[in-house]
Formats: sequence, structure tokens, C-alpha cells
Amino acid sequence: MSKIIGIDLGTTNSCMGIMEGERLLVIPNDENFRTTPSVVAFTKEGGLLVGNQAKRQQVMNPENTVFSIKRFMGRKFSDKIVSGDIKSIPYKLVPASNGDVWVEVAGRTYSPPELSAMVLMKLKKDAEAYLREPVEKAVVTVPAYFNDSQRQATKDSGKIAGLDIVRIINEPTAAALASGFDSKVRTRIVIYDLGGGTFDTSILELGQGIFKVLSTCGDTHLGGDDFDQAVIDYLVAEFYKAEGIDLRNDRVALQRLKDGAEKAKINLSTLDSVEITLPFIAVTKDGPKHLKTVLTKTKLEEITKDIAESTAGPCQTALADAGLRASDIDEVVLVGGQTKMPLVRSVVKRIFKKEPYAGINPDEAVASGAAKQASVLKGDIRDILLLDVTAFSLGIKTEGGIFSKIIEKNSSIPTRKSETYTTTKDDQSFVRIEVFQGEKPMAADNKPIGTFDLVGIPPAQKGTPKIQVLFDIDANGIIKVSAKDLSSGKEQAIKITPESGLSNSDVDSKTKELGNDFASRLSKGEKLQAEQNYKETEQAPGGEENLPASAPAPDREKQGQKKSIFDLFKKKDN
Ligand code: ADP
Ligand code: MG
Repeated sequence: MSKIIGIDLGTTNSCMGIMEGERLLVIPNDENFRTTPSVVAFTKEGGLLVGNQAKRQQVMNPENTVFSIKRFMGRKFSDKIVSGDIKSIPYKLVPASNGDVWVEVAGRTYSPPELSAMVLMKLKKDAEAYLREPVEKAVVTVPAYFNDSQRQATKDSGKIAGLDIVRIINEPTAAALASGFDSKVRTRIVIYDLGGGTFDTSILELGQGIFKVLSTCGDTHLGGDDFDQAVIDYLVAEFYKAEGIDLRNDRVALQRLKDGAEKAKINLSTLDSVEITLPFIAVTKDGPKHLKTVLTKTKLEEITKDIAESTAGPCQTALADAGLRASDIDEVVLVGGQTKMPLVRSVVKRIFKKEPYAGINPDEAVASGAAKQASVLKGDIRDILLLDVTAFSLGIKTEGGIFSKIIEKNSSIPTRKSETYTTTKDDQSFVRIEVFQGEKPMAADNKPIGTFDLVGIPPAQKGTPKIQVLFDIDANGIIKVSAKDLSSGKEQAIKITPESGLSNSDVDSKTKELGNDFASRLSKGEKLQAEQNYKETEQAPGGEENLPASAPAPDREKQGQKKSIFDLFKKKDN
């Protein structure tokens, strides 16, 4: 049987893992980093860059560099999250003909699953090079809060990338699987996952190899980016005070600020103060202006305290939904890069009145769990059974607009459940099945996820036909709804038609298109970037290397001892 890898397809960073027998292995990318930025860039010459290479040129090419595409997976253009992001994101979001949000970049439009597929293809390529064999199958993780269309979109990206996603599992569930508490004793754990763009908290009950999610809650718009933004706002205000120049009007300056802010934040997880130096951040008639300031850990904590504190609400909701108190929790597991910040750790400690578990790397936990699940599916690990739950209630609209729940929130999946309904008019020949997810009593207050008609009901008095509506949720959390007219004895089952997403033929054509030219476009992009870097190195004054400010620190080390004029940080001399 061919290998199945585990992939944490993150909003900000992705990570891959595989079980080699008993041993868990994180698969490094082609630059030997254990995580890969989920970033795709289009170069002017028609080349493509994915991962570190894409992130590195972001400052110079912001309009054509797509990051955080996961935010837009399975979403409508009219979605609140989209309208909120549209102003702050440097690339262009556009509505597709079915109302989905797409990205317009380098002269054409791309659906989020296609862009996500490019990240997957890069990961697949790097994994194949590392493992020295073809990789065709993967277990991919998604936030617990992903709804049906977001899960479908994730599956589509796998298809487009030529990767069979054999199972989708929730990120917190994967982290729990990786943390190794699969003991015989019942353990209740909290997974607190604060990444770059999303926050998820889940409460799980483990014991006898069973991982049961009791509840999940979170915020799809809370993460490390908000911490970075707080630092940017602070730097912009300070610069305005000192120089009277508003840096928010300059896109390149903002991108460099973002980069500087993030690096400062990361370094302040281990240092007490850092110096932020952004030379030539603005040009005035008196000449260039430089930003040079010291940011202390105390100041950082002061300006980001509210953000860290805002994770408490979803944690309380998750506890309440599980019917538990903080004292009922045995372990708290931290996941996501942002949990490396000491302030976040102290907030978590206060919420759950417990020192967080230290035995797992927050960057790799999710991919490791996906790898473990892959091993379970292959049959290599036999003593674990993974029970996941639905994050929402599901049901249909009935008379008077009332929402009739068929599957309750937090039901274990896979699951099948049916309810019987009837007509409200004499000789009614069809019923419209409108499917919604949510917790509100009126259907209109919940999220519509699909509609279909059941036709050909034989004439009958109102209230006599029996129409059975069946909900079927598979292990990936993907929903199918069918309806059957029982009273006529005739069977008629109809599958739900998704209201968004790509059609099968769209997926097929995009698969072909990307399959044909991904490798050549990627090598073109990489070759051009290498030439560019070489030229800039040659041209830089005094032999200094004109490296974009977004180059991650480890790269700099790799690139030798040369000092960049854009080097942002120095360790503060005490
Ligand atoms: P995602 O799940 O969204 O892909 P990650 O788990 O990779 O995200 O987390 C990325 C976030 O973690 C970024 O905002 C990054 O700045 C932040 N981060 C990474 N390392 C640290 C650190 N040492 N201290 C504070 N924040 C960090
Ligand atoms: Mg993550």
C-alpha cells in the first residue's frame, strides 16, 4: 500500500508528517524547514512561487502574492469575513458567478481551492523528493469550525493538486492524537490552538483509545496577525509622533512594518527587548527617513493584552457546551505558533487554572496527529478509534420558517439520522427541502447550506404523505441530504446540490490545467528569483546583500555571513 502523509494545511504555515513504523517524522521542505508558508506568488514573467520563496518576495510584489487563502475557502463574496478583509489584503478579491469569493491575480481569476492546491502541490513535490517515492494520498486537517462548503473546498484542492485526501480531520483532534494521551485512564483535555489567523478551542475526552470531542468553539478571525497588527499600529503612531508622516498610506512600508512587527513579536517570546530598524521607510523632501526603535516585552504585552484576553470567551463557551468546569480539565495542550508567546501562556493558565502541557511542539502537533491518523487508516496503528463531532446543528426549514433540527450540535460523526415530514396543502405535488446549519430557532437566522425539491408526490390530503428526510454525515464531516416519499411506496432520493464551490467539471478542468503547467511555472519562478537574488547581491552597495525584509531568519543564516542592509533586528546588548 502506498504511503499516506499527514498535512496540516494551515492559514499561515503548513506542515507535513509521516509515521515510519513507530516513529513520527516531520517531513522538511526543499529548503530543510519543518514548516512551509502557505503563500503563492505570481511573478511578472508568468512564473510561480510557493512557500518560503513566495513569502520572501512578498514585500516587492504584494498585489501578486496570495497568503491566508484558507480564510476564503468555501466562502461567499458577501460573507462578513470577506468584506472585513478586503480592505486590508493587498491582493484582489472578486465575486465569482456563483457568488463565491475568488482572487484576481496576474491577469486572471483563481478560486481559493486552486490556490490552496498550489500549496498542496508544492508540499507533495517536496515530500516526494524527501521520501524518494510518489505521494498520492494524504490526511488533511481543517479547523473544527469548518462547515460543509469549507470541507468540500478542501477536498477539491486535494483533487486539483492530484492528491487523494483520504480523510479530513479537525485540527484540535489531530493535536490530541499527537499528544499521546491515549491512555487507558479517562482524560479530559483542552486543545487551545492560536495560529496566524484562526483560534480554535476544543474539549476532548480520551480513554481506551477513543478520542471524543465533547465541544468546540473558536473565532475564525483571531490569531497572530492581530498581534502583529497591534505592533504595526503602535509603530505607525510612534513614527507619526516623531516625524509627522503617516506610513499607512504606503503599501510597501506597511508590508515591511508587518514583517518587522512579526519578527519583533517572535523574538520577544524569548527576549526582553528588541530593536526594530527599518531604514528608508519613508522619503521626504528633506531626504530619507528611517524607523529605529526599541520594543520591550512589557510594551508588547501591554498593547496585545486585550487580544490574548479575547480568547477567554470561546474557552468558557467550550467548557459550558461540554458541561464542564475548568477544574474538570486534566491537561491543556497549546497548538499554533502564537502560543509560544509567554503572555498567551499566562492567559491560558489563568483560564484553565493549570500549567499547559509542555510535551508537544505547537508548530508540528497538528501535522503529527494527521500522520498518526494516516497510519490508523493504513491499518498500521490498530488500537486508536477517532470519534469526531459536528460543530453545528443541522436541519431543514419547516412551516412558518421554523428550523427543524435533525442532527444536534456535537453529535459524533460519521452519523445518519432521519425525520419524517408531511405536506401543508391538499394535493401538494412537491416539497422544497431547504437545509440549514446553526442553533437559532428560525431557519432564516441560520446558515443556508443547500436546497432541493422532491417532486412527484401523488395527490393526497394535506398532512398524509410521509416524507423522510435523511442526513448522512461522513467521517470527513461532509453532509449529504436525501428525501424520500414513503406514503407512495415509491422511493425517491435526491442528493443535495451545494450552493457554492466548484462543480465536478470545474475541478476536472482545473486539475488538468494545473497538472500540465505547475512544475514548469514553478521552476520558471524559482529560476528567475535565483537570478534576481544573484543580481541584487552583485549590485548591492559595499557588497551588502539587498535581501527583501521578509526573508525568514534561518534563511539568512543559510545564505552566509553577509549582513543585509534590511536586517531588522539585533539582539539587544545589555
Ligand atoms: P496557522 O495555523 O495559521 O498556519 P501557525 O500555527 O503557523 O499558524 O502560527 C503562525 C503564527 O504564530 C504567526 O502569527 C507567527 O507570527 C506566530 N508565531 C510563530 N512563532 C512565534 C513565537 N515564537 N512567538 C510568538 N508568535 C509566534
Ligand atoms: Mg494551525
